[in-house]
Amino acid sequence: MAFFVPSHSRPERYVTSNVENMTTSATAHTGSEGAIKAGDNVTDRLLAANRRYAEAFEDPGMDARPVLRVAVVACMDARLDLHEALGLELGDCHTIRNAGGVVTDDVIRSLTISQRKLGTRSVVLIHHTNCGLESLTEDFRSELEMEVGQRPAWAVESFRDVDQDVRQSMQRVRTSPFLLHTDDVRGFVFDVRTGLLREVDPA
Ligand SMILES: [Zn+2]
Repeated sequence: MAFFVPSHSRPERYVTSNVENMTTSATAHTGSEGAIKAGDNVTDRLLAANRRYAEAFEDPGMDARPVLRVAVVACMDARLDLHEALGLELGDCHTIRNAGGVVTDDVIRSLTISQRKLGTRSVVLIHHTNCGLESLTEDFRSELEMEVGQRPAWAVESFRDVDQDVRQSMQRVRTSPFLLHTDDVRGFVFDVRTGLLREVDPA
């Protein structure tokens, strides 16, 4: 199951490339201190990291509008570090993430606010290779119903063909009546092994 590939097993090359930038969410775990041991509380660890972060933090004096006027919609996958992979800095963009990077109604809600209230104009969609959603089917909803006695209202949005799924996502953005800007919408597949983006032809 792709969902359960531990992020600390990432290749050495990737680890060393992240060591210089200690403020990103993908700061490399090196050696045993990266693993969660019995008795550790992960949230406490995050809070300790935050105190170190805040010590070095200086108010950048920005307003909330993204500098590059772009919103990136991507899968929540732990191997995809959007800021590192796209050369983004603090304040550059909106990032909207969920399982699969699927354009759901709630993603349209965020994009609508992003464009109409916070000035973004471009949309970048990023799916990736080896996505956990490829191993699920809509049967997951039935399994949940069997277990808890209630069928979820949401679709699983599983897929078999990642390119086709990116095309569908682009189409959902382009045809949304709520968005102001649908002329610059591009979709990509991120390769979790090479770190490269491949653009998907919308046709
Ligand atoms: Zn994924």
